Amino acid sequence: MGVTLDLSRAAAAPLAPKAPNLTGLSRRELAAALVDAGGVPAEKAKMRASQVWRWIHHYGVTDFERMTDIAKEQRARLAEAFTLARPEVVERQVSKDGTRKWLIRMAPGVEVETVYIPDVGRAGALCVSSQVGCTLNCTFCHTGTQPLVRNLTAAEIVAQVQVARDDLGEWPSPKEDRRLSNIVFMGMGEPLYNLDSVAQAIDIIADHEGIAISRRRITVSTSGVVPQLGELGEKTQAMLAISLHATNDALREKLVPLNRKYPIAELMAAIRAYPGLSNAKRVTFEYVMLKGVNDSPADAKALVKLLAGIPAKINLIPFNPWPGTEYECSSWSTIEAFAAILNRAGYASPIRTPRGRDILAACGQLKSESEKLRASARRKAAANADPA
Ligand code: SAH
Ligand code: SF4
Repeated sequence: MGVTLDLSRAAAAPLAPKAPNLTGLSRRELAAALVDAGGVPAEKAKMRASQVWRWIHHYGVTDFERMTDIAKEQRARLAEAFTLARPEVVERQVSKDGTRKWLIRMAPGVEVETVYIPDVGRAGALCVSSQVGCTLNCTFCHTGTQPLVRNLTAAEIVAQVQVARDDLGEWPSPKEDRRLSNIVFMGMGEPLYNLDSVAQAIDIIADHEGIAISRRRITVSTSGVVPQLGELGEKTQAMLAISLHATNDALREKLVPLNRKYPIAELMAAIRAYPGLSNAKRVTFEYVMLKGVNDSPADAKALVKLLAGIPAKINLIPFNPWPGTEYECSSWSTIEAFAAILNRAGYASPIRTPRGRDILAACGQLKSESEKLRASARRKAAANADPA
């Protein structure tokens, strides 16, 4: 049987050069790109970059035609040279509690989940991913069971914020009363293993003439990559969150294997040295509550002792189970008793209510679960399509 190949299409696809996306560029890089490829004269670069910047990051436009203070011919030139396209939203889910989750495809096989968690009033936090998968293998974390696919670029991190703001209808950047008021790097991946892109994305997100979310409202969570902590503080001035989960090395090594490389004493010393710490700028310690593992009153007391002198908040996270895990979540009364000990010692220690569990958007449930669901849906569809 003869086979006809459509060579015109086959040849066009891989050869067609992809126009660079301007979303992840710093102001300086944007100005340089406009001169190099956008036909902007060097003497006008700074001014044009400011205009384009505002359109991209304050107004959220994806179409150069909407940049009405730029001459028509110039807009056409930019549209030829660059793109502002958003990545594809593969799946969007809204939980009964208002949590929203997007599965975003950055490139073929490169998918991340981003979660919006509404808070009291209008405010809310966006939980963004910094890597696809994770190289660390924390034993209670589902993301840790997935191999690292790759680091996300600054553009891909900023794109998660843009996608959320598109969906929340929050362009141009409102001055106050925002729905997307805070950002937490608590999605997939270890942000300190991708610090350059994370720092560049934070510069873009925090820029006053753009998305303009203040650095005080941006929190980076790390499992404790000690050598990068100082750089994180200096480069980003972001709020720091530490995934602690245990107060002695023997246990922490089991939960967070990275502890073998950077034991608790070194981690605490680096935290104490984090730039700008004060009572107004506290470190958040995350502590996942694992039944019979780290949840006794003695553990709570050891935690109080360990944190002495550090301006700290403690976030108790009820463990979110996943298929195949050996851990269980502590009972509610155990968590409350643990919190009471911390409160008596003067620490704010909110228990993080699991959010969006019905759409698998809670901590440690990201991506893998929806991948599995889609795989099982595909299997079902295939089974239904099978001729009996
Ligand atoms: N890699 C970074 C940031 C992402 S994880 C870090 O580890 O800090 C965000 C938080 O969710 C971390 O505190 C992590 O320990 C916690 N977490 C992971 N899996 C969880 C699960 N199954 N249940 C509850 N919390 C979990
Ligand atoms: Fe990676 Fe954080 Fe999960 Fe550990 S808890 S495996 S560092 S994503």
